[in-house]
Amino acid sequence: MKVGVVGAGVAGLAAAKVLQEAGHEVTIFEGRSEVGGQVVTFPVGGEELECFYHHIFTSDTTVIRYIEELGLGRHLRWIEPRNAHFVRGRMYPFVTPIDLLRFTAIPLTSRIRLGLAALWLRRRADGLARYEGVTAREWMLRAVGQEAFDAFWGPLLKGKFADQADQVGMVWLWNKIYLRFASRKGGSSKEVLGYLEGSFKRYYRALADRLEDRGAAILLDTPVEQVAVEAGRAVGLRAGGTFHPFDAVLLTVPNVIALSIAPDLPADYREILQRVRYQWATCLVLALDRPLTPYYWLSIGDDLPFVACIEHTNFMPAERYGGNHVVYLSNYTAPGHPVLQMDAHQVFEHYLTGIRRLNPRFDRSWVREMWFFKDPGGQPVITTHYSRSIPEMRTGIQGLYLSNTTQVYPEDRGQNYSLLLGEKVGRLIHEDAARVAASRGAGI
Ligand SMILES: Cc1cc2nc3c(=O)[nH]c(=O)nc-3n(C[C@H](O)[C@H](O)[C@H](O)COP(=O)(O)OP(=O)(O)OC[C@H]3O[C@@H](n4cnc5c(N)ncnc54)[C@H](O)[C@@H]3O)c2cc1C
Repeated sequence: MKVGVVGAGVAGLAAAKVLQEAGHEVTIFEGRSEVGGQVVTFPVGGEELECFYHHIFTSDTTVIRYIEELGLGRHLRWIEPRNAHFVRGRMYPFVTPIDLLRFTAIPLTSRIRLGLAALWLRRRADGLARYEGVTAREWMLRAVGQEAFDAFWGPLLKGKFADQADQVGMVWLWNKIYLRFASRKGGSSKEVLGYLEGSFKRYYRALADRLEDRGAAILLDTPVEQVAVEAGRAVGLRAGGTFHPFDAVLLTVPNVIALSIAPDLPADYREILQRVRYQWATCLVLALDRPLTPYYWLSIGDDLPFVACIEHTNFMPAERYGGNHVVYLSNYTAPGHPVLQMDAHQVFEHYLTGIRRLNPRFDRSWVREMWFFKDPGGQPVITTHYSRSIPEMRTGIQGLYLSNTTQVYPEDRGQNYSLLLGEKVGRLIHEDAARVAASRGAGI
């Protein structure tokens, strides 16, 4: 079969790998000038760095498998991150369980309730069945009380989901906590996070190179304009004004894009795609001449215009990045938010007061370079009863398939799950093709 894959993010690459191994001819269309999708990188001081902060957990066994299979295992580092929470003008370290007791922003009883809630959730393997109908706000408020909610979980939910925060399902929050506790090595009380020296681009670029060496075509700067459908069957793709015929087509793009490039999708399928709303992801990245904070991951519980400050060079050494201290100021916004119209300098001015709240000595002369990145499919909003909003991989048009981050559940979206979905849809396309071939052979 000739298969056209739309999108060269990690899901598209993983699907192409499975299809190629099953003997199919694969062409990947990518709108951007490089493969990698949301894990795309840019150079800082001579080293590649993700436009959006990336690390992996020890539970991300599929990413680890890809890294090992591509011969890059020796570059994977496991590091104990220095995490903290900023609230009421102060940074509180959050590395060991003892740190929770030192979180004096709230009374001792509230701290104990925060800790007990986390302990309870980390032991609940059945959170999916248990929490499908409950919002995170409802459950957490009941478990930890108003004060702890307002200082900790409330601002984090608000920062990630804005006006949708109150609709977010408890399954999403339960699984985040459950998996974070799982990312500890050898029974340690400290979390470890994984990072590939030289950036995650090393593994997905190696995968793309391998696909090309074995005959796949990867067409960069080639956004697909439309899926061509005849008599209820996908017959090809239109890109750059040219028609490319295919026996099967896989979309790995967010729902909003799938809806616009595949107008023939059946009405009930379109309705499911329209159900899930996305938050845009934005990252202002600063290259500084000195550190901003002592922490890698600083979550923000105060009213600042960003939800997290991730200082990458408190995780990997600044020397790798030409001596630059690299800081991501991350935020998630609804489509139409004014910040999405700003350039890096305008965003910086907008964030300046917030940056000074983190470090009052901060001076703009510390900034050597800055960049602003945004992605419309940054974070699907995972509401209660989300399992009813997950689109099938078979779209209802014969030969047209979909695999994207809205199908990741109950885990939060991540490379690991996109790779798994890519592999799964690749197998599905192959099995459908084999079934059609068998029925033709049998004269059915
Ligand atoms: C801010 C942020 C932080 C993250 N942090 C982490 C982390 O720490 N760890 C982790 O594991 N994961 C993290 N993730 C998640 C991870 O990056 C994603 O889950 C994963 O990369 C999604 O891969 P995908 O292939 O499903 O989709 P995408 O990466 O979105 O790929 C889709 C591709 O389709 C292309 N495309 C779109 N329209 C068209 C068109 N018309 N024609 C052709 N091509 C098109 C896009 O350019 C893109 O390359 C993060 C994501 C974000 C946004």
